[in-house]
Amino acid sequence: MEETSPPLESLLLPSIADVSVLSLDVSHEAIHIDVCSTAAGAACPDCGSESTRVHSSYLRFPADVPSGGRLVVLQLRVRRFFCPESSCARRTFAEQMPGLTRRYSRWTERLRSTLAAVGLALAGRAGARMARTFGVSISRSAVLRLLDALPEPQVPAPRVVGVDEYATRKGRVYGTVLVDVETRRPVDLLPDRGASSLAAWLAKRPGIEVVCRDRAPFFAEGARAGAPQATQVADRWHLWHNLGEAAERAVARHRPCLRVLVPDREGQADEPAPPEEKADSPWRSERFANRVRTRHATVHALLEAGHSRRSIGRQLNMTHRTVKSLADAAKPEDLFRGQWQHNRTSVLDEYKPYLDERWDEGCTNAWKLWEEIVPLGYRGSYGRVSAYLREKRTSPRPVTAQPPAPRVVTRW
Ligand SMILES: [Zn+2]
Repeated sequence: MEETSPPLESLLLPSIADVSVLSLDVSHEAIHIDVCSTAAGAACPDCGSESTRVHSSYLRFPADVPSGGRLVVLQLRVRRFFCPESSCARRTFAEQMPGLTRRYSRWTERLRSTLAAVGLALAGRAGARMARTFGVSISRSAVLRLLDALPEPQVPAPRVVGVDEYATRKGRVYGTVLVDVETRRPVDLLPDRGASSLAAWLAKRPGIEVVCRDRAPFFAEGARAGAPQATQVADRWHLWHNLGEAAERAVARHRPCLRVLVPDREGQADEPAPPEEKADSPWRSERFANRVRTRHATVHALLEAGHSRRSIGRQLNMTHRTVKSLADAAKPEDLFRGQWQHNRTSVLDEYKPYLDERWDEGCTNAWKLWEEIVPLGYRGSYGRVSAYLREKRTSPRPVTAQPPAPRVVTRW
C-alpha cells in the first residue's frame, strides 16, 4: 500500500490558498521554490472586477523566511490580466497571492511580519543587524518603515489619564505624554505642552473621569477646558516629592533643636583616629594637607589682589562652596581639621542613628541589622556594619551622638 504524504504546498506554504509548488531545489546556499497560482483569475486592484483574461506573465523572486541556515527564495510565475471594466482607468494588472505577496514587495508576507517583529523588539539599527544574522539584508530605515506601516494598536479610551511632559530636547522642546494610569501604558504623545492641544485631546474622549497631573498651569487649564467632567488630582510622585521637600526644609530649620538634646562631641574630636586608618594614611593625609595649604594660600592671595570670590572660582575651577570655605578659614589648619573630619565620614553615617536605636532596643545582630538598612537605601558593605557594631560592643560609651541628618529624617 502506498503511503500518502501531505501535498508539498501545505508543507511549504501552509494556509495559503490557490498555489501550486512546481519544484523544489535545495543547494548549499539557498532553497528555491518554484510556485505558481492556481486561481482561475484575479480581481483588479482599482475597480475590483474579476478577470480571467491573461495579458502576459513574468517572474518574481520574493525572499522568504530563511530555513536551516539557507536563504529561501520563491520563484513566482505571476500573470498579468486585462481589467474587464471599460470605465476603469487601469488597463492591466498583476495578480497578487493573498497571504504571500503584496505589490512592490521583495519579501513574502511571512518574512515581512518576521522582520516587523524583529523591528518591534529591537528598533532600526539593532533590528537590521539581527536580520543580517539570519541572512536578510535590510537597512535600518527600512526596518523603521516596516514598523511605520503596522496598523495602530487599538487602545481603549482611558478612564484615569495621567498627563506629564517629556523632552525631545531637554530645556528647549517639550511635548505632552498621556498615560492610562490603570494599565500603566502610554496612550499618546502630543508634540507640544500647550493647554489647547491637551484640551482638544481630552475633549475627544468624554469617558475620562480622572485627570492626574502635576501643578503646571498649562495642564490645569487644558484639563479644565477639555475634560470639565473629570476630577483633577495631583499625581502621587509630585505629592511625595513636594512633601519630601517641605519635610526636608522643616527638619533642616529645626536641626539646632536636635543638637541641644544630644551630648557634646567635643571630647571625641581630639581623639586619635582608629588604628586601621592611622596605619595606611599618614603620608597620604600629609600630601592632602599640603594641597589644602596651597589652595588656601592661592585663594587668599587672589582675594588680597582684589578678585571677587566668583572670579576666583572661575579661575581655579572651584565651586562657590569650596571658595567660600577656603576664604572663610583664617589659617589652613582650620580648614584642614574640617576636611579631615569630612574625610572620615562613611556611607554608614546616615544609618548610624537607626542602628543605635535598634541597638538600644536590644537588636545587636549585625547581619539582621544590615538586612534592615539595605531596604532603607544603604549601599555599603556588610563589613562596615559589623565593624561599627563591634566598636559599639567594645566601647563603653555611645559611639555616635549626632542628630540624624535632615535627609534621613525626611526618608522616615
Ligand atoms: Zn479595473
